[in-house]
Amino acid sequence: MAEPGTIEEAIAAATGEPFRAQSTRPVSGGCINDAFVLEGKDGRRYFVKRNSADKLAMFEAEQAGLREMLEADAIRVPAPLCCGSDDSEAWLVLEYIEFGAANAATSELLGAQLAALHRRTREFFGLDRDNTIGATPQINTPDDDWPRFFATQRLGYQLDLAERNGAPARLIDAGRHLQQELPALFEGYRPAPSLLHGDLWGGNWAADEGGRPVLFDPATYYGDREADLAMTELFGGFDERFYRAYEDAWAVDAGYQTRKTLYNLYHVLNHFNLFGGGYAGQAQRMVAGLAAEIS
Ligand code: ADP
Repeated sequence: MAEPGTIEEAIAAATGEPFRAQSTRPVSGGCINDAFVLEGKDGRRYFVKRNSADKLAMFEAEQAGLREMLEADAIRVPAPLCCGSDDSEAWLVLEYIEFGAANAATSELLGAQLAALHRRTREFFGLDRDNTIGATPQINTPDDDWPRFFATQRLGYQLDLAERNGAPARLIDAGRHLQQELPALFEGYRPAPSLLHGDLWGGNWAADEGGRPVLFDPATYYGDREADLAMTELFGGFDERFYRAYEDAWAVDAGYQTRKTLYNLYHVLNHFNLFGGGYAGQAQRMVAGLAAEIS
């Protein structure tokens, strides 16, 4: 365990003010890291994520992603303060956000503000660094061709991992075929490189004390905004008002109904690679559905 002193010193250096911890309170709910609220003797509070020292690059990437989202000034995200490591541990220190109850306006704001995030675009898909999706590396090498980017850096990468992790050969073969045919799903549709949260399941947003939506724990990159929307549908946690507000702000192309299966296939394959089990069967059904759309 890192001595809290090391994190205290990092906070002091980043804020330019001495920081002495008074208490730590563990926070549950995270999937990957040990998380806690660190409160200083002066009442300042920070949200800290901690993991083994070799995870520093993961935290640096999360910090960079949060900064990218902050710059878009579209939706509230925790401001990162600093990250660092010692011999045994790495940490990421974020603004502490007190969560509260969602109100009638929260879902609408979430929809409108997510569309505003997606309005922030770049000339290429990807990012200037790789990051992680769950604990899996997520490759973000810039490319100006979205179907090629998704075929290689998203679908292809997870298929390679799945093959190494013992996925059934028929899933891998059908997945590779889909990879080849993937441009067929993009006829007449040219997405912009939009700033994405990248891991937008219901557990990665909450309302702050004022009922405003907050996004956290991103796997940020520039990509087709439909990929974020698709993930909101994969595990639930988003209501009708959210979808209506998003659609009012920026209408979604009709082909989304097919492509959302492609985008969620990435996450289902990632779940197979992280957890195994029934996700291979689910991925197999998704690939078969997409193959039927293409032929
Ligand atoms: P992990 O990377 O381990 O999945 P998360 O970023 O999802 O961790 O954080 C774990 C939990 O901590 C979240 O579910 C949320 O309830 C809470 N949380 C996340 N960010 C903050 C924050 N900035 N301030 C306060 N609580 C937070």
